Formats: sequence, structure tokens, C-alpha cells
Amino acid sequence: MSQNNKEQLGGGIFLVSPVGAFPQFTPEELSDDAKAIGQAARDFVEGEILPNDSAIDKLDLELSKKLIRMAWETGLLSLEIPEEFEGMDLDKLTCLVVLEEVGRQASFSVTYGAHTGIGTLPIVYFGTPEQKAAYLPKLASGEWIAAYALTEAGAGSDAMNAKTVAALDGEHWILNGSKMWITNAGLADVFVVFAKVDGKKFSAFIVEKTDPGFSLGAEEMKLGIKGSSTRALIFENCRIPKERLLGRIGFGHRIAFGILAIGRFKLGAGCNGIAKEVLKYTLKYASERVQFGKAINNMGLIRQKLSDIAMRIYVAESINYRTVGYINEQMHSIAWTEENAASRKMEVMEEFQIEASLMKVWDSEALGIIADDSVQVFGGYGFSSEYPPEKIYRDNRINRLFEGTNEINRMIIAGQIFKKCGNETLNLRNDAADLPAMGTDCMAWASHAVALAKRRFQYSTAAALGAIGQKLIENQEASARVADMAMEIYAMESAVVRASKMKTASHRWSDFACDMANVFVNETVGKIRNNASILLAEALEGESLQKAIKELAAFDAFVPISSAKLRDRVAGELIEAGAYPIDQF
Ligand SMILES: Cc1cc2nc3c(=O)[nH]c(=O)nc-3n(C[C@H](O)[C@H](O)[C@H](O)COP(=O)(O)OP(=O)(O)OC[C@H]3O[C@@H](n4cnc5c(N)ncnc54)[C@H](O)[C@@H]3O)c2cc1C
Repeated sequence: MSQNNKEQLGGGIFLVSPVGAFPQFTPEELSDDAKAIGQAARDFVEGEILPNDSAIDKLDLELSKKLIRMAWETGLLSLEIPEEFEGMDLDKLTCLVVLEEVGRQASFSVTYGAHTGIGTLPIVYFGTPEQKAAYLPKLASGEWIAAYALTEAGAGSDAMNAKTVAALDGEHWILNGSKMWITNAGLADVFVVFAKVDGKKFSAFIVEKTDPGFSLGAEEMKLGIKGSSTRALIFENCRIPKERLLGRIGFGHRIAFGILAIGRFKLGAGCNGIAKEVLKYTLKYASERVQFGKAINNMGLIRQKLSDIAMRIYVAESINYRTVGYINEQMHSIAWTEENAASRKMEVMEEFQIEASLMKVWDSEALGIIADDSVQVFGGYGFSSEYPPEKIYRDNRINRLFEGTNEINRMIIAGQIFKKCGNETLNLRNDAADLPAMGTDCMAWASHAVALAKRRFQYSTAAALGAIGQKLIENQEASARVADMAMEIYAMESAVVRASKMKTASHRWSDFACDMANVFVNETVGKIRNNASILLAEALEGESLQKAIKELAAFDAFVPISSAKLRDRVAGELIEAGAYPIDQF
């Protein structure tokens, strides 16, 4: 038995600390400034983006460019660019609010996200003062649009296997090779491109669309997000000035993966924005569609789906604000004027890789289920392109593929956990003694279930690591079980702690939040039980497996509650409100 000896908030620490041990930011605590910017984003999206939904989806790139410029006029484009370069340098929580609003139109959200995020941020974090001065003001205003080019036809998840090369020729770099699936390619002016110097040292470069030897492939014919441009980039002796190397030679992986980690939590925010749209039209349809003489929103199984959509939105929201709250607190306290500001900010992102990856995976998979539930509520009409669920059913699918596939993100989560256990940053308890007792507050039942789930996770993961060691990562299925348990524990804890805070503050929607958190815990504890048992079976055998499975039963002190009653109450509130009702502005 060992005790966790790190009291400090760090990545993955939630797995070994008591429920609610560290302060958790919730959307209810947003500042007035963040709400004002959120409102401006909402007005912009409702006034300019949603009315252009079908034009955007016909890949009208001039329109997308115009909308990007309008986003700047509204003050929504330069949120993360330092003030010195005509940006607003706002905190990450405000960015989260804006991204959620922009997320309501999937294609535009991808265009906006690639420009303001993975396209621009490499220059913000890794650019020289001259590069920042040359590019950031133009990117801040939307005069120029940015793209990020890592993937190649033969190097997707295995991005470091890139074949694009760069060689120095006097005062110029000469790039050769090609990139694939590049968002914004058809409208971008500037591209952050990863290539290997002399075929070996992975590095980043800034390429402009007018550089000689640079050209684009045709637009990809895609399943969804049809209004976002996706094309290949081709470099045939592409000649760029020597000064366009971004960061240091051989350090391209830090840029590529550091920026992707930021992209991950942003993607989660966008998923939740569109999920709220889905809930709105699904509620409306369920109230209008009559079968067996009554609106289908009276049927128990439809009410279950409606309340599950809201529950997933609530849980995702709780995860998102908690994660970005952690990152924001440590990142935004470092001013851009401080020494080594960029690398210190990137270190914060590296610390919270587990949380950023699980936010991406949880939110994108929640949206997948939400989109599917919506089709189901619409019945046959959900299968028709004349009705809204069909589009989001297609549009949402990309979220599980880009910014690192969900398989790769699961392996990142597990890999980080194993590493932190290996270097004793996380000390897992491998016994079943001193089980947590149930408290008395309004969320006591759910908190107790989460506390037991944490111990179950610790017990099974410690046993598997004890038997197999760091090589456990080579059993991907077992590692994914570790990642899934971590993800669901974080999700449950985020939902429960937020509900409890809302209750304490007598928030108007606190009972609604408590019901959703309780249903979520009720339905999720079993998944953790299953994953823990099979994880043990992956690592142990014979008597030691039987003994471990018996010990695991110690964490079974969980009596389920009726989900149907709680879901029915949630559905009733939703039907009355006509939308996800916990709104911040
Ligand atoms: C619409 C769209 C826009 C995109 N925009 C951009 C962009 O702007 N810039 C950019 O650089 N890229 C972009 N991408 C590329 C995207 O990031 C990649 O498609 C993604 O990283 C997966 O790579 P891949 O498609 O080559 O799949 P592969 O890597 O071939 O993966 C195929 C399958 O194998 C699994 N797999 C692969 N390796 C492992 C492993 N080690 N363990 C377990 N499973 C594994 C994957 O999870 C996946 O299920 C975009 C892609 C699309 C479709």
C-alpha cells in the first residue's frame, strides 16, 4: 500500500485524490467579461453564421473568408494572440465560451478553429519576434488565413514518419514532398508545414501560398463538414527564405504535438456547442410528432433519449470547464512579457495532456451518441437529408478522427498514466483497506460511488502494472481499459462536483443538474467494474487472478438507484424549456 504524496494539482492527480480534492471551475463561475464575449459570439453566430448554413456547406470559400473577417470585426478572431501583435490575449476560459458558440455550425467551426488554433498558434508560441510581427497582425485581423500541415498520405497517426524534406540552399530552404487532408488549404495564405531537414531532423517551416514550387491538390470529397476546405499541399522544390524556419531544427515534434494538445481541448468545446443545437431541434420534433395519439415526447424511451442528450451535454460541459480551468489558471498567469513565457505555457499543456486528451475523446464520443439518438428520435425522417439530424450525423464523425484519432488519444492517456506511475508522480493504492465512507451532503451517494470507482481503478491498474510493468502499454486493449476508466472517473467526478456546487449556491437548475449527475454515475459505475475485471484478466492468471477478482468485490458497496424516475424528471424540465436550460448568458 502506498499513499499519494503529491498534494499539488497536476495532470492525472484526480485518479489518486479524494473526490473534489482540488477546486473545480464550473461554467456558473464565468466572469462577466467572458459572458459578454460569449454573448457577442452568440449574436454573431445567430446573426451571420447560422443563416448562411447551407451556403457555407456548399463550400463557398469567399463567404467563409468574409465571415472570418466579420469574426474579427466582432472581436472574436484574435483571442489568443498577444496584445503586442494586435491580439486580445484573452484567457482560455473565454476562448472556450466562444468556441462553444462557433461550434454550432460544424464546417465554419472547423475553418475558424484551424485558423485561430492549429494554424496561428505555432507562430504565437514558437515564432521569432520578426515572424510574429510579420504574420500575427494579419492573422489576428483575418486579412490572412492560416493552416497547419502535419499529415501525409503515408504518415497520419505516425506523423513523425513524414517524408517531406527540407534542405538548406544558401539563403533558402528547399522543400519537397506533399501533405494530405489540410484544413483551410483552399483559403489559407500561410501554412505551418512540418518537414525533415536533410531527411532526418523533424522541423517546422512557414510557407506562403505564393511561394514558388508550392501548389494545392483538389478539394477532397468528404462525408461531412463539406463547407470546410480540405486539400493536399504539394512541394516541388518549393523555395522559402531561410528565416521561415519555425523554432529550432529537430524540434518540430514539440511544435506539432504541443499545438495538437491545445487543439484537443478546443475540439471538445466545439462538440458541445453543436450538441446543444441537436438537443434543441430534437426536443422540438419530439413535441410535434404524434404517434399512438400523443406526442412522442410522452414515450418513456424517447424521454430517456432526450434526457440522455442533456446529460451528456451537462457532463461534457463539466469536464470542459474543469479542464480548461486547470490549464487556464497555470497558463494565463504567465504573461507573454515574462522570460521563456512560451515554453512555460507549453509545459502547462504538457502537464495536462491526460485531461486534454480525455476531454477530446469523451466529448467527441458523446456527440456521436447524441447525433445518433437524434436520428432515432426523428425515426425515418432522421434518415432524410430534408431534416437536420442527417447533417450532424455526418458532420460530427470527423471529431473522432482528427487532432489525433481517439485510439491515439486513448494511448496517450494510458501512456501518461503509466509514466506517472513509473516515476511515482501518481502512487496507486493496490489494496482494498480503508474504503471511503459515504458522506451526508446532497451528492453523497454519487460521490461515494466515484470514490469507490477511483479505488477500483487504482487496484486494477496497480495489479496490471505490477504484473507486466511499463510493457502494459504494448497490450493496447488493456491500456485502453485504463484510459476508459480514467476518462469515466473524471467525467463522473466533474459532473458530481459541479452539481454539488450548484446545490450549495441554490442555483435555479441545481436539482436538474443533480438528477443528471446521479443518472450518469448510476449508468457508468458498471462500465468501470467491467473494465477493471477484464484488465486484471489481461495481466494475471490462475489463483492470483481469482484472488484479485475476489478483492475487487470490496469496491462493490454500490446500490443502484432508479434511472427512469430521474430521467423522466429531466425530460419534463427539458420539454418545458425547449432547449438545454443551464445557460450562462
Ligand atoms: C477532414 C479532415 C481534416 C483534416 N485536417 C488536418 C489538418 O488541418 N492538418 C493536418 O495535419 N491533418 C489533418 N487531418 C488529418 C488527420 O489528422 C488524420 O487523418 C489523422 O491523424 C489520422 O491519420 P490517418 O488518416 O492517416 O489514419 P491512420 O493513422 O492510418 O489510422 C487508421 C486507423 O488506425 C488507427 N491507428 C493508427 N495508429 C495506431 C496505433 N499506434 N495504435 C492504435 N491504433 C492506431 C487509427 O486510430 C485509425 O483508426 C485531417 C483529416 C480529415 C479527414
